[in-house]
Amino acid sequence: MILAFISMSTIQIIWLRSSIEMKKQIFTDNVFHSLSQVAEMISRPTTGTLQLELEAISEEQAQAKASLVQPGRPSIGEGLDEAEVRMLRRFDAFQLDSLIELSLQKHGIEIPWVMAVFDRYGQPIRLSEKDDSYRSDLEITLFQTAIETLSLRLHFPSLPRHLLYTLLGQFALTGLMLSIIAWGFFSAVIGAAKNKRIDRIRRDLMNNLTHELKTPISTIGLASEALGDPDMIKDTDGTKHYIALIKEENKRLAVLVENVLQASLADSGNMQLYMQSLNAHDLIKEVLRNLAIQIRKRGGKVELRLEAPNPIMEADRIHFTNVVFNLIDNALKYSMGNPHLTISTVQATDGLELRFQDNGIGIAKEHLGKVFDRLYRVPTGNVHDVKGFGLGLSYVQTVVERHNGRIHVESELGQGSTFVLFLPQ
Ligand code: ADP
Repeated sequence: MILAFISMSTIQIIWLRSSIEMKKQIFTDNVFHSLSQVAEMISRPTTGTLQLELEAISEEQAQAKASLVQPGRPSIGEGLDEAEVRMLRRFDAFQLDSLIELSLQKHGIEIPWVMAVFDRYGQPIRLSEKDDSYRSDLEITLFQTAIETLSLRLHFPSLPRHLLYTLLGQFALTGLMLSIIAWGFFSAVIGAAKNKRIDRIRRDLMNNLTHELKTPISTIGLASEALGDPDMIKDTDGTKHYIALIKEENKRLAVLVENVLQASLADSGNMQLYMQSLNAHDLIKEVLRNLAIQIRKRGGKVELRLEAPNPIMEADRIHFTNVVFNLIDNALKYSMGNPHLTISTVQATDGLELRFQDNGIGIAKEHLGKVFDRLYRVPTGNVHDVKGFGLGLSYVQTVVERHNGRIHVESELGQGSTFVLFLPQ
């Protein structure tokens, strides 16, 4: 995977580099073509009257162009041999600047340029004053052509910017490709990690489930075998005990099946809601009545602060009862010592807020955002060996969201937890 990512990125970068090289090469070729065309045109021999006319024109232009030659530099004729002087005059007669401009344009080059003519000793003999700052660039420029002993040189001050500009599309494309490759790579890595986590959770769930099923099944099996013993008929106390045992284990099985069923319902999106007006306070009290034995067994205490003036809400009775049941059941399951549970209702502007606060083991910050994920259980090692499948809270969240409500948890490790549920009214 990493290898594929690196090779794809390398291919992209190589492609971009070769594009830059190619653009540079095309530009260079075009400039050389233009320069050699100009050189060829200027050095092509002219005859008779045309030659005389050219010389006359060049004489006039020599005066006009005197300003182009810098003071202290040789002017035409000064330090130059006859052939060079003749060539310079031809430059003027042919209007070298316009010729170059035309030729470059013909080759698709329309960026600013500066021109200079250097003599055989490498001294500039034609360089305008305003272009003098480019002298060092002109001395080393690639773009030059020899015309007899003179050297005609061009420099393009904005060439790097121009190349960058023409390659903007490619840069953007490369950036896009690299981002897509990086995105693909990271989503594959994240996906693989997620699959691994789900696999582990699924394995844990299966182990948990089998374990949870095995105990009641074998207890029921043993109890029924004992009941089948002819001696048992006389032992009424023993019979009662075994019957109670079977009932208890059967209840455990029912809860287990109910849990898995709720989760698969929530998961499949097939959850049917039968909305009706319900009194939230009555519903909470009813669930507490059903859990009374469990609470008593654990030495728990429940404080009710049902203070919302309007506890009537539109909800599905069965699913909403399950929600309240799961939250209270969790508060009991994840308690330290004797559970102390405070259930309160508050009237919000556009709905009802229900708070389930416990004094339990609490949830560390890094797990807070995940407890509503399906199959997620806070890893506790073997310290708190509480049975569960990590299905309850994800079911609770699905039901609440289907009621257009929201739920969140506020908690700190060792400081208890508060599940806050909001339902629109
Ligand atoms: P289960 O209880 O079956 O593991 P849940 O979906 O109900 O699954 O809860 C997910 C996890 O959230 C639990 O495993 C537990 O770690 C944590 N949790 C839920 N309720 C509480 C609570 N009241 N106090 C502390 N931790 C809780």
